[in-house]
Amino acid sequence: MVCRCGKKTYYIRKYEGIELCKKCFVKSVEKKIKRNIRKNKLLSKNDKICVALSGGKDSISCLYILNEIVKKREDMKIFAIAIDEGIGEYRKKTLNKAKEFCEMMNIPLKLYSFKEEFAKNLPEIIKNEKLNACTYCGVLRRYLLNKKARENKATKLAFGFNLNDEAESIFLNFIFGNLDKFLRLGPKVENKEIKKFVPRIKPLREIPEEEIFAYCDALNLPYYPKKRCPYGKESVRKTIRKFLYGLEEKYPGSLFQIVKFADLLIPSLRKEFYKKGKIKYCKICGEPSSRKICKVCELLANSEMTRLHKRI
Ligand code: SF4
Ligand code: ZN
Ligand code: ZN
Repeated sequence: MVCRCGKKTYYIRKYEGIELCKKCFVKSVEKKIKRNIRKNKLLSKNDKICVALSGGKDSISCLYILNEIVKKREDMKIFAIAIDEGIGEYRKKTLNKAKEFCEMMNIPLKLYSFKEEFAKNLPEIIKNEKLNACTYCGVLRRYLLNKKARENKATKLAFGFNLNDEAESIFLNFIFGNLDKFLRLGPKVENKEIKKFVPRIKPLREIPEEEIFAYCDALNLPYYPKKRCPYGKESVRKTIRKFLYGLEEKYPGSLFQIVKFADLLIPSLRKEFYKKGKIKYCKICGEPSSRKICKVCELLANSEMTRLHKRI
């Protein structure tokens, strides 16, 4: 089988029922990303974009495509931030890929660590805690990324979340009944009332994970190939990920439908809940919440992390 241009097939896109050669595939993925950026106004004039870089395929392709856009614009700047949680060999290897890529592309990279910022690395933090590692890791990493992006005067904080990630988040919040977090999903998360919040953007949100792998391989982008974090096996997200993979395999296009449905719901739900004053702002961290103290702060309240949290 061949691509519509006549060249050899590189990728079969089941949800569209088409086959694409390498060149047409790359072009098509980039077209979809740029359309998402335009449609949802992810970028604006004079933006200084900070990309959260882990060294995995998603953040590497996100940085690559945004850098391609910024290169053609005189008013925009770009840099990357990587966080070292201190998860031994795994993080060392992913960070090496991040450094290698930034050097290759001549993009400034800023590196921060849990150890320097919170006085402890992740294994030390979770030593006597009941909750799983990912809960602390996610909360603290997001917190640091926002803080460091702001300190470096970024106007946008870009994440390499793909279509699968977004569908997983929708399911996760649905299963745990977390309306606050559900209402914060979408291609762009901003809160003009909270000055310290750097608007977050997700340029790859409409690209399935499988296509990100194929995109990196087509362009020979260096990335750390596997999610081998020793704590990864604990996460509920992993169970949902497996389920969604199976669903997409059997019914191509399911992931798009899930995200599309959430996109239809979220704007009206936001209006409804903001109007009735159900969404307030957390007294401790300032994030939107239906209660005075958000779940994140509540989570940290009874642990040793309170001391660390107050420092930041
Ligand atoms: Fe952090 Fe969990 Fe991801 Fe490991 S799997 S990097 S602990 S969020
Ligand atoms: Zn082609
Ligand atoms: Zn809070």
